[in-house]
Amino acid sequence: MKKKISLTLQIFIALVLAILVGILLTGNPDIAKNYIKPFGTIFLNLIKWVVGPLVFFSIISGVISMRDIKKVGAIGGKTVVYYLCTTACAVIIGLLLANLLKGLFPVLPTAGLSYEVQTTKIDFMQTLVDAFPSNFLAPFVNAAMLQIIVGALFVGFALLLLSGGREDFKAFSAVDTLNGLFMKVMEIILKLSPIGVFCLMTPVVAENGPQVLGSLALVLMVAYLGYILHMVLVYSATVSSLGHVSPLRFFKEMMPAMMLAFSSASSVGTLPLNMECSQKLGADRDISSFVLPLGATINMDGTAIYQGVCAIFIASCFGIELTLSQMLTIVLTATLASIGTAGVPGAGVVMLAMVLQSVGLPVEGIALVVGVDRLFDMGRTVVNITGDASCAIVVSALERRKQQKKAAKA
Ligand code: ASP
Repeated sequence: MKKKISLTLQIFIALVLAILVGILLTGNPDIAKNYIKPFGTIFLNLIKWVVGPLVFFSIISGVISMRDIKKVGAIGGKTVVYYLCTTACAVIIGLLLANLLKGLFPVLPTAGLSYEVQTTKIDFMQTLVDAFPSNFLAPFVNAAMLQIIVGALFVGFALLLLSGGREDFKAFSAVDTLNGLFMKVMEIILKLSPIGVFCLMTPVVAENGPQVLGSLALVLMVAYLGYILHMVLVYSATVSSLGHVSPLRFFKEMMPAMMLAFSSASSVGTLPLNMECSQKLGADRDISSFVLPLGATINMDGTAIYQGVCAIFIASCFGIELTLSQMLTIVLTATLASIGTAGVPGAGVVMLAMVLQSVGLPVEGIALVVGVDRLFDMGRTVVNITGDASCAIVVSALERRKQQKKAAKA
């Protein structure tokens, strides 16, 4: 625990150093771009490399630890409903807040902006079809997270059937070993976060100057206000009413995981610690090892708030007023977009492109916020993992109540 807090401190030092070195290099941004940024890219690549197998084995491990396919179905249903509802609340909070406070946003010049789009519009049926893999390895190669989750469910179910109810089935311990292995690999990579953060931030400051932070300070503030409001209103309500945990205790016990999420900007990277914290708060081991990896890829409330705020900010820079139906489209697209993208640093920007496209906003507007994305990302990742943990606690409490009722009837 002590080590984890010191990692956060290291990251802060890295951020401050990045700003200082970035300012020093403003005359020669190419040095930062050519010799510092590549190390940041290596760090990001390493996280992306381990995310696929980590989610794959942790979902299988979650499924087999429930020992019952029906239970997986019941828990899966509750989890998905919880995630969809809280994400919709998050986008609404983001949009409301940004609409109320948009008068504060700076109007930045938009001429000459460019941003390369890598995505196409979201289509529900296509998302559904794309969730099913047609090749065993391709999902890992393409980091197609939904396909990895679907594949893991099939493998987990098959293992449960093969085990024939035997507790000592050898493949179970093999999966747990592989799960532990990839968790460990992720931990090692996260130890490099301070270097990664420094190398990613320095070129941004060197290329744009420190004023890039200043002009976006108010947009950042609105996003953080949204993050805090969502956690305090929505998660406090769900963990206390459905999970029977006091909000104060919830946030206190979650603090180590929230700190790591803030510094690593990766939900998947925070998985091992998030499991520990949620279990301390009463989440069952089997439920959290299924709900949390699922949440790390399909549930991103912080990212949804960020998308709402950025969509309004970008629209106002381009002098566009969004209609109510456009805002509803944003709610829907942001909710769908968060499904199937792994919780790694910077994932939210890719989703923002989909959200902007869905309402016809100019995608090049992303260039206005992408420079300081890390600062938005740190906060939204905290919300993302806190939402996952709240779900594990709520679903565990609901399951316990169901079992008690069953026992009382029998
Ligand atoms: N970094 C976020 C996460 O890991 C995703 C995002 O970029 O919004 O949850």
